[in-house]
Amino acid sequence: MDLYEHQGKELFRRFGIPVSEGRLATTPAEARAAAEELQGQVVVKAQVLTGGRGKAGGVKLAEDPTDAERKAEEILGLDINGHVVRKLWIERASEIAKEYYLSVTFDRGTKTVLFMLTTEGGVEIEEVAARSPEALARLHVDPLEGFQPYQARRVIYGAGIDDPGEQKQIMAIVGKLYRCFVESDAMLCEINPLIVTPEGEVRALDSKFTVDDNALYKHEDIAAMRDPEAYPPEERMAREKGVTYVKLDGDVGILGNGAGLVMSTLDVIALAGGRPANFCDLGGGGDAQGVVDALEVITADPQVRSILFNIFGGITRGDEVARGILQALGQMTIDQPIVVRLDGTNAEEGRELLAEAAPANLHVEPTMLEAARRAVELAE
Ligand code: GDP
Ligand code: MN
Repeated sequence: MDLYEHQGKELFRRFGIPVSEGRLATTPAEARAAAEELQGQVVVKAQVLTGGRGKAGGVKLAEDPTDAERKAEEILGLDINGHVVRKLWIERASEIAKEYYLSVTFDRGTKTVLFMLTTEGGVEIEEVAARSPEALARLHVDPLEGFQPYQARRVIYGAGIDDPGEQKQIMAIVGKLYRCFVESDAMLCEINPLIVTPEGEVRALDSKFTVDDNALYKHEDIAAMRDPEAYPPEERMAREKGVTYVKLDGDVGILGNGAGLVMSTLDVIALAGGRPANFCDLGGGGDAQGVVDALEVITADPQVRSILFNIFGGITRGDEVARGILQALGQMTIDQPIVVRLDGTNAEEGRELLAEAAPANLHVEPTMLEAARRAVELAE
């Protein structure tokens, strides 16, 4: 789950990482009131779950409350990489002498926690990595040994930060960021820019924060930060029904049992020249209600023109799934043609059941590739 900048900063603040004071606003009037409370120059910042807000005109300095209200009017409703701005973070403006970059994430290759630090902050980190890789200092932390302060010293020297005051503050920030990352079950905490003010004070000016969905049950407070409006309506519906679903942008609806099978189904659709509309995993079960729920979510996407049902019978038998499909089709009307590929345990019995019932818009194919081709053809 991705957090908004202001939510990430709230977690930073709780772990003692310095951030600027700010307020949320959803209207220009609220932005004015926030600026009045904060006093002086403020920054008006679009809260959207995407980067590059500055370049897109979603981050603006304001001189006074009237100006903040005007800037809020400009930014609210703005479309930034497909994300419409509905919320603003009004923050006391900082004076910036230097912009650094600090992040912590997982390095899956070495199975360790990876810190990255560079004095070339403020721009996309991929740019720095491509243009001047030597400027990017890396630090691997073994999760079993945990973080040791001497490691922070090493990465700070590695990045070429030689001001003792900055070194001391960044030392502390690296340690706190490690705790924040581990204790929040985060997958990424990125501070870009980590600024140094003209007075030499170091502070997090931005936050990109991703928390592991599978750990949210341990963090009620973070789970409550989820903004349902930030997700496509189909995904919201799926979450409510307990269906494992991810929206994609093609027109062939996909339904399968088992994440691995569904992933390969997406590949086979691409191989057959089509584009999948979604990922949807029925899981182990194939009961009628599960199928109805999944089909309701899949067909809520107006782009779906055909549906491919890919089932491999294992512990869940093919005939059970076939009964589930038939029952589901009896309970609801589906306008799009459905292609079924059924294999594995009791596949024969399952296919017979489908053939006997023979619903009008149901096509049974013997292999995954043939089923994919058929589904793609029917979507045209
Ligand atoms: P992003 O573009 O989505 O990464 O948003 P950021 O929060 O990183 O802001 C973009 C840029 O706006 C920063 O790199 C800064 O240069 C600038 N900026 C943000 N906050 C302030 C501030 O308080 N004062 C000044 N002078 N510039 C700021
Ligand atoms: Mn940034």
